[in-house]
Amino acid sequence: MRQPTAYLISCGDELLFGHTIDTNSAWLAEQCTLLGWRILGHRTIGDVTPDIVSAFSEAASKADVVIVTGGLGPTEDDRTRNALAQAMGVGLREDPEAIKEIEARFRSFKRPMAAVNRIQAMIPEGAERIVNPNGTAPGIQGTLGSARVFCMPGVPKEMRAMFDQTIRPVLQGAPGTSATVMRRLHMCGRGESDIGHALTHLMGERSNPEVGTQVAESIITVRMYANGEDIVEATRVADSAEQEIRSVFGEDIFGVDGETLAMAVAKLLKERGAKLMTAESCTGGMVASMLVDVPGVSESFVEGIVAYANETKIRRLGVDARILAEHGAVSRETAAAMAETLLKRGEFPGPMYAVSTTGVAGPDGGTPEKPVGTVWIACSYLAPDGSGVTRTMLYSTLADRHGIRLRAANAALDLLRRTILGYASPSHEVRDDHWHKD
Ligand code: ATP
Ligand code: MG
Repeated sequence: MRQPTAYLISCGDELLFGHTIDTNSAWLAEQCTLLGWRILGHRTIGDVTPDIVSAFSEAASKADVVIVTGGLGPTEDDRTRNALAQAMGVGLREDPEAIKEIEARFRSFKRPMAAVNRIQAMIPEGAERIVNPNGTAPGIQGTLGSARVFCMPGVPKEMRAMFDQTIRPVLQGAPGTSATVMRRLHMCGRGESDIGHALTHLMGERSNPEVGTQVAESIITVRMYANGEDIVEATRVADSAEQEIRSVFGEDIFGVDGETLAMAVAKLLKERGAKLMTAESCTGGMVASMLVDVPGVSESFVEGIVAYANETKIRRLGVDARILAEHGAVSRETAAAMAETLLKRGEFPGPMYAVSTTGVAGPDGGTPEKPVGTVWIACSYLAPDGSGVTRTMLYSTLADRHGIRLRAANAALDLLRRTILGYASPSHEVRDDHWHKD
């Protein structure tokens, strides 16, 4: 049986001109996909009635369902109701139930209802009102050719509540839909092209599962949509693809779905009863901040120092001034010393880890040997018996200042994760140096 199809339209000049990012379509697309519908396309239309009318008609000629957001408010630039009436070839009527509902809302706010708000009770002949659980503007549902059209307000909170209450039940379990499972696997430390290349055989057009990759701040996500007759079957399809991906990239995958690098690291530290300290230069506390985002990390994360100036690296951390003089602040030796000096104070019993970063965040300060985006990262481990090991890594990337810092912070957390797990690091210029306390 043919899979049912949906087309998404967002209305509003603010979206067309780029002042507001269209988060509604992103959210709706994911919901519809998870409900087993195929999204044929998205369109953004400005507040121009003839443009909206033709977008409605075109979408309705292609898809089974057209979902529209925005332009239902009471102001002159809200043209969705008129456009739908024109596309349907009918006039507008006032919906008595809608008027009552809007009046009741205004009464509950203890505000008088302005005459213009009556506009919100106008709907095309033959269409129906959709109740708005979170606002004044009702939605509209109607039929255009062979398609069902749902119009919802643009305000994301109202739109989502209305979708959940009225539209989701209509889409759910429609003939031809299959159960869909979405799964995301997150990795750090490899290039997107490496991963894409290794997974080419899984990324065929309209295969099951549909697999794609995306990258954000050095974290690569492989996402898949798996279909099946029921949820058990869809889950099985997702599981078997995941297993295949893990057989190639098992050590690189740090999390699934909502799991962040910091969460993964916090969990590993907790399992081992280990403490963690950070000494950050170019990342300026980002590593610490990501860790502190994780509830319960206080069990493991004990201290984060932003050692930005050289004097601070010497005075607060105890880095030997000669190391800085000889190798410079951005060097393997300085990164290692920053992490090791934290551990050598040895304030905690049990296993301890320390992470450090030092790099050139730019836009100035780069040299041919150490261009902007060069970051040295160290991760040190001190075992309860006094033996220590420090893994140092050269990380380099092309990005703006904020991007360099964010990526380096992620790279530092991933280096820590791999060190804890005893995994190799895939990048070049990685070295493990053994030392002993005292
Ligand atoms: P209202 O009754 O609140 O006027 P409306 O249907 O007229 O509802 P709009 O005026 O189009 O909605 O938008 C209301 C708010 O929602 C605005 O702040 C707008 O920027 C935001 N918004 C509209 N469409 C989207 C969208 N597609 N994604 C994210 N935000 C949106
Ligand atoms: Mg509006």
